[in-house]
Amino acid sequence: MQHNRDFDPRYGEAVELVPGVRRLTARNPGPFTFHGTNTYLIGSKRLVAVDPGPASHEHIDTILKTTEGATIEAILVTHTHMDHSPGAQLLKEKTGAPIVGCEAHRAARALLEDEINPLDASADKTHRPDKRLEDGDVFAATEFSLETVSTPGHTANHLCIAICEENILLSADHVMGWSTSIVAPPDGNMRDYMNSLDKLLARPEQIYLPGHGGRISQATSYMMDLKQHRLDREAAILSKLANATCTIPEIVSTLYANVDPRLHPAAGLSVFAHLEDLVMRDLVSATPALSLNASFNLNS
Ligand SMILES: [Zn+2]
Repeated sequence: MQHNRDFDPRYGEAVELVPGVRRLTARNPGPFTFHGTNTYLIGSKRLVAVDPGPASHEHIDTILKTTEGATIEAILVTHTHMDHSPGAQLLKEKTGAPIVGCEAHRAARALLEDEINPLDASADKTHRPDKRLEDGDVFAATEFSLETVSTPGHTANHLCIAICEENILLSADHVMGWSTSIVAPPDGNMRDYMNSLDKLLARPEQIYLPGHGGRISQATSYMMDLKQHRLDREAAILSKLANATCTIPEIVSTLYANVDPRLHPAAGLSVFAHLEDLVMRDLVSATPALSLNASFNLNS
């Protein structure tokens, strides 16, 4: 799986990607955000701000400075994670623009008995859009039409946004060039994620602008690799379980031996997402019950 980590965030500066489409990267770098969250400004005089980022006054000020003399007519949010959506409320207070896009945060499934949601702190539960955009809805902004593509998996409410006139897709955290997406139950769901990749594979856009890192220019072949990567992981998990009953840390230590140990807890969540899917497909059983701490074995 080839990732492209070549990216200059140019903090505080708007980077024009195609005429009328600019990227502003927030200064919130980290192991899960790469150099920071990308806010996209769609339009020149009357524009839509997509994913205003974390609750950062510095970043909101940069958005306001960049758009001075123009009007922000809507604030569009792709999903409710703390690095993407809390800035929407701050930007709304400054501009009066309505918040449109994803629905309020919800998990892909209910918590199981005694289950702790490992990514609870990363969810923005205060997010309330003024107008919810659903799959297939076209938001007709003044300068561009933005089509909503519902892509659950990373979160249940995740949206990608197609810029119709440009044949470009804003892929948010569903497809990123620098890394694979985090898919972690109960907020995320591996089956949904794979189905959402298939949904995008059936679309024409080849240029993707993600929520973190730089543009993806051959989306179809990249997504085929992403799919294969997950299928390989699933096969590796099944072959590890073919030899013995395993816990998630045991699987991670084999499958992610070459990965930065700081990322092992996140890798464990990804393995959990695969195992949850395998349990749902009746290929694997969890003892005593499906959880991060369970032991897993192959069904005979
Ligand atoms: Zn996210």
